[in-house]
Amino acid sequence: MEIMKAQEKISEFDKARGWEGKWYVKDLALNINEEIGELWNLIKWVDEAKQKQLAKEHIDKVSDFIGDTLFLILKIANQTNVDADKALQETLNEYEKRMPPKVMKKVKHANKLAGGVDNK
Ligand SMILES: [Mg+2]
Repeated sequence: MEIMKAQEKISEFDKARGWEGKWYVKDLALNINEEIGELWNLIKWVDEAKQKQLAKEHIDKVSDFIGDTLFLILKIANQTNVDADKALQETLNEYEKRMPPKVMKKVKHANKLAGGVDNK
């Protein structure tokens, strides 16, 4: 994966601004919530079909959400010395075990409380 390259690029971005030693994990986490709120404002309280339509009509906002959120997540990875590439791979490995494809195709979703199969 190319995530490490992005992580390094963000590290260079911070170094160029004298921010490399700053610790903003709490603020970055809250900022992710702000980005989620921006996406939420676009699609809230509408059904799936309308969400798809709105996302298509406002793809610039969706793209902005993805870019901004990835930037913030990778900044947290840098500040906590987490290898984001490894973290994502570990998450995918865990999800493979928790949500086996054959089972998921039958039940359609993971939420145990809603009849799915994921115990977590
Ligand atoms: Mg934004």
